Amino acid sequence: MVDNRVTFRNTTISSGDVVDIVVSGNSIIEIGPELVSKGTEIDCSGLLALQGFVDLHTHLREPGFEQSETILTGSKAAAMGGFTAVHAMANTSPVADNAAVVEQVFALGEAAGYVYVQPVGAVTKNLEGKALADLLKMNQSRAQVTVFSDDGKCVSDSLIMRRALEYVKAFGGVVAQHAQDPALTIDAQMNESTLAFELGLTGWPSVAEEAIIARDVLLAEHVGSRLHICHVSTAGSVEIIRWAKERGINVTAEVTPHHLLLTEDLVKDYNPVYKVNPPLRSNADVVALRAAVADGTIDIIATDHAPHTADNKDCEWGQAAFGMIGLETAVSVAQTTLIDTGLIDWVRLEQLLSTNPAKISGLQRHGRALQAGNAANITFIDSKAQSKVSGTTQSKSSNNPYVGIELSGAVVHTVFEGIFTVKDGRIQELTNA
Ligand SMILES: [Zn+2]
Repeated sequence: MVDNRVTFRNTTISSGDVVDIVVSGNSIIEIGPELVSKGTEIDCSGLLALQGFVDLHTHLREPGFEQSETILTGSKAAAMGGFTAVHAMANTSPVADNAAVVEQVFALGEAAGYVYVQPVGAVTKNLEGKALADLLKMNQSRAQVTVFSDDGKCVSDSLIMRRALEYVKAFGGVVAQHAQDPALTIDAQMNESTLAFELGLTGWPSVAEEAIIARDVLLAEHVGSRLHICHVSTAGSVEIIRWAKERGINVTAEVTPHHLLLTEDLVKDYNPVYKVNPPLRSNADVVALRAAVADGTIDIIATDHAPHTADNKDCEWGQAAFGMIGLETAVSVAQTTLIDTGLIDWVRLEQLLSTNPAKISGLQRHGRALQAGNAANITFIDSKAQSKVSGTTQSKSSNNPYVGIELSGAVVHTVFEGIFTVKDGRIQELTNA
């Protein structure tokens, strides 16, 4: 019998213990200190092994916008960032608002093979906010959708939002809200502030986000359903979510890496790489978001990886698309803003990037402890690495706001279902038999 076992030797895990991890097939079969040699050995001295990361909020752009990203290129970027599972947002063309499209996305993810691609279903037909999409059919499809979002657009109609919460409750789904009151953000270009006034750009008030979150936590309470808030960006939003959790409302919340590091001051030169939805906010907001991650008010870090072609980004601020890429830099931004600052430890980071997003979505093979019997989805990072972001990327797009910024940590290996997708910092060519 061919021994296909691989032993990852002398790696540190989030608790700080140094162990060997033995993988066979797609499972971890043994973990512990100084195991007897089994199969191929990979020296992981000095590396930190974490549960493979899970992104709850990724725009892979396929079908329909393949000039910006494909499921294959986005999957490779995810693997480079240490992710073993991503959730593909529904704002494709056609919109993922029915079983056929979510099954297509799921199949393309399988064919790519770099990460687990879990489709997100739209809440409303064609993201129009008017009629509910067929949520149950998407749930019962091969893609087994549990997370529904009109992301990019807000489900702003209160009755539609109520119905969506009621509907997903029946099968244990969750509505992930892009909280943006459209009436308060007409033509909005950046955070509403004195800087926006100076720059002559239409402001995007915090209350446009906070009013929707306040309404939706009350709706979730009223209906007894589960709500997730995408990309929380303001101190006020944090306060509302904290209040809702204290009250026992079933709400979870995410923050993006960029909202943990970047502020509205970057907009000063009108460089559209910093144009994003929701907008970069004030330093006080950044401080509040980091504190909310540390105290548990915010449950997960999600990238909102939003690739756009140069045509849509290298233009005047007013014409540029909203969004920035972020899969390959996510853990480095998280380490730089949260670990290096002493706000959280690696156990908490593993919850934020793996355990909690997997739990929200109900993934079975991701977000699980590194222990014998669990799936071999593992990310190895060099937490001592320090480097300036070069901008080199597996993504098809290059709208990267971190180029030139020094960040901590580097992904060395990503192991997806027992297979190296990234080895020694390089993407592996997978041969799909
Ligand atoms: Zn969004």
